[in-house]
Amino acid sequence: MIDFSWTEEQRQLQQKILEFSRQELNSNLIDLDAQEAFNWEGWRKCGSLKIQGLPIPKEYGGMGADILTTIYALEALGLGCKDNGLIFAINAHLWACSLPILTFGNAEQKQKYLPQLCQGELIGGHAISEPEAGSDVYNLKTVAQKRDDKYILNGVKNWVTNGPVSNLYIVFATVDPSKGKSGISGFIVEANLPGCTLKRKISKMGLRTTQLGELVLEDCEVPAENLLGKEGGGMAIFTHSMEWERGFILSSAIGTMERLLTTCVDYAKKRKQFGQSIGKFQLVSTKLVDMKLRLETSRTLLYKVGWLKKMGKSILMEAAMTKLYISESWVQSCLDAIQIYGGYGYLTEFEIERELRDALGSKLYSGTSEIQRHIIAQFMGLGR
Ligand SMILES: Cc1cc2nc3c(=O)[nH]c(=O)nc-3n(C[C@H](O)[C@H](O)[C@H](O)COP(=O)(O)OP(=O)(O)OC[C@H]3O[C@@H](n4cnc5c(N)ncnc54)[C@H](O)[C@@H]3O)c2cc1C
Repeated sequence: MIDFSWTEEQRQLQQKILEFSRQELNSNLIDLDAQEAFNWEGWRKCGSLKIQGLPIPKEYGGMGADILTTIYALEALGLGCKDNGLIFAINAHLWACSLPILTFGNAEQKQKYLPQLCQGELIGGHAISEPEAGSDVYNLKTVAQKRDDKYILNGVKNWVTNGPVSNLYIVFATVDPSKGKSGISGFIVEANLPGCTLKRKISKMGLRTTQLGELVLEDCEVPAENLLGKEGGGMAIFTHSMEWERGFILSSAIGTMERLLTTCVDYAKKRKQFGQSIGKFQLVSTKLVDMKLRLETSRTLLYKVGWLKKMGKSILMEAAMTKLYISESWVQSCLDAIQIYGGYGYLTEFEIERELRDALGSKLYSGTSEIQRHIIAQFMGLGR
């Protein structure tokens, strides 16, 4: 039986995060976006509430929330906080760094890194993509050669979210190129190791308060104890990370879409042209209705996937569907919002155009929309 009612405890947490994010996370956002500056203040404030550690067990310094509670709390973050870049930084850190350490790390690794990751005292990144390995991610060229009690890493990771501010990265490299995918392993690489250099901070269209960087590994000596999971087990780590990430990275977008809808409904009621509220024109109201439909269907899909995960089911296909559907809904609702605002929607000071720039990235990261469709087609028995 599916039951989507929330407990009093869950509602209180949701309310707490909503009030906190509305009050604490929305100052100076136009400037931060223009300057492409990391929102350090927001990051630290979220860390003090352990938002970065929502689903991580309490014994490792997290909040210990189950997945449905986590989704609900992240939704509140998106509803209250207008800094999608900060939210993306938190999500990348959580799903692609902390969670793999929780699942595949040994006792020492978990104790060493998780408590500080949960409080935002350490910032994590995930480094798999390379110049020649984007969608075809297992075509990576970074190598890890075992030498005594170390692995020597060499390669370039050109898309690392949080890279310029990270203290550690989950880096994927092959220990044996002849083994193909089975040679890939995951490593916890601390940013201050010699040979580990963040060579370039990369500018981008949206999510500009999240830092993106290119990581270069040149004879970087990683202690063997920092191998994550077993040698050759990188594919399992990546698949696991993507299952969680694709399933839940857009939880906050539900809140964002709700915030956008409320703003647009208010605007459509207040803005008058031709002697009446623009919301009375059916060409405007149908856009608002479509935004509402996208919001509710996205939310239902997300909750269902959260519930399946809570039941211990594999959600590989459902996660791809969730990522695909919410990202495309989010982008379309941002386009509708700009249209409803007319020319004002195009102006930076109205803070709607930024929402569109931020939303567009969701069709690309964690696998493009085409790749999500490809995965779903495979589950339908249509793939290669
Ligand atoms: C904001 C942002 C943050 C990111 N953060 C990280 C990060 O933290 N760590 C990390 O490792 N990576 C990160 N990435 C990289 C991201 O995972 C890749 O950009 C993505 O996987 C696509 O790879 P690509 O850009 O090389 O595009 P390509 O793989 O070159 O794709 C180009 C086009 O071809 C299409 N295409 C490719 N293969 C197929 C196929 N089989 N069928 C149909 N169409 C196909 C794609 O959908 C796309 O439209 C980030 C990307 C963005 C935009």
